[in-house]
Amino acid sequence: MYTYETFETDFLILGGGGAGLLAAIHAHDGAPSLDITVVVKALFGKGGCTRLVQGGYNAVLDAKDSIERHFEDTITAGSFLNDQELAWILVSRAPDVILELEDKHGCYFDRHPDGRIHQKAFAGQSFDRTVHKGDLTGIEIMNRLVEQTFKRSPRILEDHRALDLLLDDEGRVCGAVLLDMRTGKFAAVSARATLLATGGGPNMYKIHAAAADKACDGIAIAYRAGAELMDMEMVQFHPTGLLAADSRMTGTVLEEGLRGAGGRLFNGKGERFMEKYDPERLERSTRDIVARGSYLEIQAGRGSLNNGVFIDVSHLGAAFVEKNFPGMVKRCRDMGFDLARKPVEVSPTAHFIMGGVKIDGATRSQLEGLYVAGEDAGGVHGANRLGGNGVAESTVFGCIAGDVIAQSLPPRRTIRAAQVESIIDRAAAPMKREKGEKVFDIKSEMRALMWEKAGLVRNGADLRAAISGIDALADRLNQASIAPFLNYNMEWTEFINLQNFLLVSRLVAISALAREDSRGSHFRSDFPRADNEKFLQNVYIGPDFRVTFRPVRLNRMKPS
Ligand SMILES: Cc1cc2nc3c(=O)[nH]c(=O)nc-3n(C[C@H](O)[C@H](O)[C@H](O)COP(=O)(O)OP(=O)(O)OC[C@H]3O[C@@H](n4cnc5c(N)ncnc54)[C@H](O)[C@@H]3O)c2cc1C
Repeated sequence: MYTYETFETDFLILGGGGAGLLAAIHAHDGAPSLDITVVVKALFGKGGCTRLVQGGYNAVLDAKDSIERHFEDTITAGSFLNDQELAWILVSRAPDVILELEDKHGCYFDRHPDGRIHQKAFAGQSFDRTVHKGDLTGIEIMNRLVEQTFKRSPRILEDHRALDLLLDDEGRVCGAVLLDMRTGKFAAVSARATLLATGGGPNMYKIHAAAADKACDGIAIAYRAGAELMDMEMVQFHPTGLLAADSRMTGTVLEEGLRGAGGRLFNGKGERFMEKYDPERLERSTRDIVARGSYLEIQAGRGSLNNGVFIDVSHLGAAFVEKNFPGMVKRCRDMGFDLARKPVEVSPTAHFIMGGVKIDGATRSQLEGLYVAGEDAGGVHGANRLGGNGVAESTVFGCIAGDVIAQSLPPRRTIRAAQVESIIDRAAAPMKREKGEKVFDIKSEMRALMWEKAGLVRNGADLRAAISGIDALADRLNQASIAPFLNYNMEWTEFINLQNFLLVSRLVAISALAREDSRGSHFRSDFPRADNEKFLQNVYIGPDFRVTFRPVRLNRMKPS
């Protein structure tokens, strides 16, 4: 039997990206006496995707732009599946949060010579509204938020991962069980409010872009606790993931601003293939269309030698590219490619999950005591996220979560020792088996399966094969064994990651099978059109993988 320590906190924040840190800062500023705990699976400030944000942050700052236009771009890109109230909150709060990041937290974004914040072009937008710091915006945001969080002295548990939520007798969330990955020790945390901000991360696909610490933990944890999920079929593939052979750099993103600035895509035959898929917007089309176009070219045998396509920005001039995209140029140079002067091989890469936990505008889930912000939440982006709306989502809703908790903290509920013990037993089970398969093989098989059967182009037969393949992998995982040492046991980390990846993969495949139409990032070759008569609905998944459809509330904008 493994032992565990128990401690109490008022506000337990699981995840320390944009959403988690702004929640901590706002909760502290609104109620300085709150006891706040921030748990991060990596080193504090170094993990997660907010740090990886490259291109930037969408916010309406220019008098010629408008909140309504940003809203319309967001809903159109999302194929009208967005929760329109959440999307409205996103676009209407983003300008204030950008100013807060600069004026209160010390971020400094690129500016015009006259002092105005510079905003660059991103795909799928009717106005150049992407605020940025060069092409590595997330480092600026995270470094400043880390400083601001330290200043407020919450309890910070780094290299700790949340395993599962704790529920009281009436199903109310009252904390979580954590694993200290450095020592292998467990902790049961009693919390009055718990925020999930672990940032999704669809790294269960062969080619993927999200930070290495992410494993869809928050979505899996919420589902196991009984929270309702929505639109899990909506997985975004970024069109331009670097192809760099077997290196870990394969899949990392070459930012959208390259296409925004005029970057062109060519297939292996030298054809500018976006002329076929979106003759009007070409490479500045939305990610779903560009990624699918690239994938279809590769599948049709018109890809590059390494099963990719080429991005070419050389016509913009080497000096321009080096000045405006120094981070991307360096990333490519490190791998032996000259982005400023020559085409570079890229592939669609799994990037972001639009689906997630259903929340209301105050970040409340349907489980009392559980709040969700950032990529773990569903609804904001509908069927496809606009580049630049991701970090806006995590920061806007992180602020809201912190404000809500500061204003009204739920009462403390009693945690149940039996539940703590069963969570620990489940996590530690493979250490007790002397023989069994190694988890790393299961991981690579899962990634190939998801890429081939539940990826950019789907159909009913493939999705059914994906579900049975996932189930077979889950059975094998349940028999896996792990060397029983506790300190930094990376195989153990992979085991727990895989439990969550396989659960979320199943949720993705089941939702994708249920949605018999094509919209945004979800494309069914057997139902290739958007069917607004039948499927202008969100797909919800409840207990026992039960799927229900509910019509989207079109209260602000309707499809024409
Ligand atoms: C390469 C790349 C480039 C991007 N560029 C842009 C861009 O230019 N513009 C844009 O808008 N969006 C961009 N995005 C998307 C954007 O990064 C995300 O939408 C956003 O940052 C998510 O913020 P978050 O706070 O929800 O999660 P994250 O910032 O990912 O933070 C998650 C946190 O949770 C922690 N965590 C994970 N699991 C656990 C666990 N079990 N227990 C405890 N902690 C856990 C992690 O360690 C991390 O601290 C990009 C994404 C990637 C991958």
